[in-house]
Amino acid sequence: MNAYHPVTPDIIEALRGILGADAVSVAQADIDLHARDQSHHPAHPAEVVIFPTTAEGVAATLKLANAHCIPVTPWGVGTGLEGNAIPVRGGILMSFEKMNKIVAVHADDFQVTVQPGIGHKDLNAELARFGLFFPPDPGANATVGGMLANNAAGIRTVKYGASKDNVLKMQVALADGRLISVGSRSVKQASGYDLLHLFVGSEGTLGIITEATLKLVPVPMHMSAVVAHFSTVTAAVETVVAVRGSGLDPAALELIDAAHAKMLRETEGVPLKDYPTLFMEFHAALPETLEAGLKSVREICEELGVIEFRATTDTAERKRLWHARHHSYEIMVRSHPGKQFFIMDVAVPISAYPDLISFVETVTARDGATAYMIGHAGDGNIHVEFPYDTPESFERAMKLNGEIVMQALKLGGTATGEHGVGLGKAKYMPYEHGESLDVMRAIKATLDPNGILNPGKVFPNE
Ligand SMILES: Cc1cc2nc3c(=O)[nH]c(=O)nc-3n(C[C@H](O)[C@H](O)[C@H](O)COP(=O)(O)OP(=O)(O)OC[C@H]3O[C@@H](n4cnc5c(N)ncnc54)[C@H](O)[C@@H]3O)c2cc1C
Repeated sequence: MNAYHPVTPDIIEALRGILGADAVSVAQADIDLHARDQSHHPAHPAEVVIFPTTAEGVAATLKLANAHCIPVTPWGVGTGLEGNAIPVRGGILMSFEKMNKIVAVHADDFQVTVQPGIGHKDLNAELARFGLFFPPDPGANATVGGMLANNAAGIRTVKYGASKDNVLKMQVALADGRLISVGSRSVKQASGYDLLHLFVGSEGTLGIITEATLKLVPVPMHMSAVVAHFSTVTAAVETVVAVRGSGLDPAALELIDAAHAKMLRETEGVPLKDYPTLFMEFHAALPETLEAGLKSVREICEELGVIEFRATTDTAERKRLWHARHHSYEIMVRSHPGKQFFIMDVAVPISAYPDLISFVETVTARDGATAYMIGHAGDGNIHVEFPYDTPESFERAMKLNGEIVMQALKLGGTATGEHGVGLGKAKYMPYEHGESLDVMRAIKATLDPNGILNPGKVFPNE
């Protein structure tokens, strides 16, 4: 492990000189607020929290930290679910709270350039005026910087892709204080190594994103929502595979298990039945395209034994249904007072999704674990949510987590579809990547030889 230098009063003074006195805080409230994210991982305090306002301030801070071998952990808004932003080696916590502006809207190019601290929901509220939106949609109001760093995805990824598919260009501050530009505003670029996508998903361990140009899409003219109940998870999951194979191009294709549907019905009055349920959304430029698509979806669902099928093109009804899905995590937490949640995330190729889901059902039933399944099924992505309130229930969840991860890898999948590696998935990296992990280590050593950038993440035991 690297020997890091503590943040001394001299360093605090130097930071104040670079960023201004207001942008540097050692207040206990600020330290505590940035000591843990939304995951189950324990809190760890930084020694100082800073709030830069410019890319140059970020770069100058890195230069100082690198010269003194002080850890720097970037922080979006702390909604990560794998401890990605917890400053486990102390040092400087760099919050992007004050770098949250839209730099330029390039409406004619379907692009926007932003600072990294803007929340994607806030961004989309502004972009609505232009009839455009940034489609990656994690449930929380995550920042663009945090989304790009984690390669976040979400409900609409099945149609529009993950964060990595919706970024064109970034400005990145390197560990040694250089500010570089990666990618291009040209949608096509075949020039040189793809450094843009090296930084996307690197969780702040290779460089710090100080600006990003994002791809936008037009707000769809017509949308529908479908809710379909099935008697078994297997039937629901087979329907997912069939809908994906039909070419109907769903904009969302989500699965919740019977326990989750029951909870949403009982606590929110959502008109659901206590069965495994698929939520779907379709987008179209013409209403007749939407209607024809819905007819085909209904036929597929009926062939696979749907118990009840409801489709709506009514905006209020659609929003009500999706509100329940979007807020299912908060609803679940509210319904389990006194319990904490461990949320795991894996993904597999869509053809292996039924096998993965049946494995989850088998092992959770075998161990008598309370578990809720909720998945971006159209992407082969599942989250298993374990409530816990004792060391035993936590240990059981961790053991099941390990089994499910290894099964996902066996099925040709990944240890994390969207939450990133952070702390929790680091130990599975050798199983997933083998010798490629050595190449990743070499890249890390080249870009961050002193290991100051978000140390303790991504690589096991480092
Ligand atoms: C209720 C709930 C639902 C969620 N649903 C989803 C979902 O559907 N899909 C999904 O993908 N995720 C989901 N998440 C997880 C989370 O929202 C994402 O991981 C998101 O990308 C984190 O963004 P953030 O701004 O909170 O970043 P943080 O948690 O603050 O940081 C995340 C990572 O990004 C790094 N980072 C932050 N800013 C920068 C920067 N400017 N440059 C370089 N690195 C940076 C941090 O160091 C850390 O490694 C959910 C979380 C919650 C609480």
